[in-house]
Amino acid sequence: MPELPEVEITRRGIEPHISGQQIIRVLVRNQQLRWPVPVALEKTLTGVTIESIGRRAKYLLFQTSKGTMIVHLGMSGSLHIAEAGDKISKHDHVELEFTNSRLLRLNDPRRFGSIHWTTSPGERHRLLRSVGPEPLSDTFCTDYLYRKSRNRKVAIKNFIMNSHIVAGIGNVYACESLFVAGIHPSRGAGHVSKPRYDRLLAAIKQVLQSAIKAGGSTLNDFVKPDGRPGYFQHHFSVYGKTGQSCGRCGSPIKQIALGQRSTFYCGKCQRF
Ligand SMILES: [Zn+2]
Repeated sequence: MPELPEVEITRRGIEPHISGQQIIRVLVRNQQLRWPVPVALEKTLTGVTIESIGRRAKYLLFQTSKGTMIVHLGMSGSLHIAEAGDKISKHDHVELEFTNSRLLRLNDPRRFGSIHWTTSPGERHRLLRSVGPEPLSDTFCTDYLYRKSRNRKVAIKNFIMNSHIVAGIGNVYACESLFVAGIHPSRGAGHVSKPRYDRLLAAIKQVLQSAIKAGGSTLNDFVKPDGRPGYFQHHFSVYGKTGQSCGRCGSPIKQIALGQRSTFYCGKCQRF
């Protein structure tokens, strides 16, 4: 599932090819994504120019002169750049063609992704207006997180995965950040001390930044003719490692369910 670092890498991978380019053709092959692709999309987008591509949480914001196209990649979605005439792959549901004869294709086997259009600023769309601060911004600081957590009984892992608290931290990076910070994922958010929130803040920023850095080596994949941008294989310390030895202390990594999500942690390194 594309998480924030993958979405950010997608943004960086496609922007140089289509930013400043005018859309000359829009083709929706399959309208049935998580929500139906707006019926007017083809008409609305034809002739407009992409001014920039931004990101908010796990959404990509294609800023045009007429409004913003908002794209979410869902569970299995990916965007890639093709040339006119390149073979269409199964699950290429939506395609934009630009004046420089580049194509932007949305591929999504499971179709949990979505496309939205708004003439208001993208950040004010109903999907985004109540989303918390970006985890890599300065607004996301210890004081903020500590203040928000007081009197909260919810497990710390679910707390940091709550998009109203902070944007775009999914299951993978929540597990990894809590490992780096040495905090047990089930610990009540309201019972985590300020020094531990300090460590958690630093851990969240560090794991996201290092994943984005790792993804930098895949930027050229967005224009490969076979067009399946590899969501990069990143090194994880605990995620998906049930039963394997903790790299820090050697104890077996444990797995529990929290908020119906598989949760991985080291019972020795992560204190309650
Ligand atoms: Zn350990």
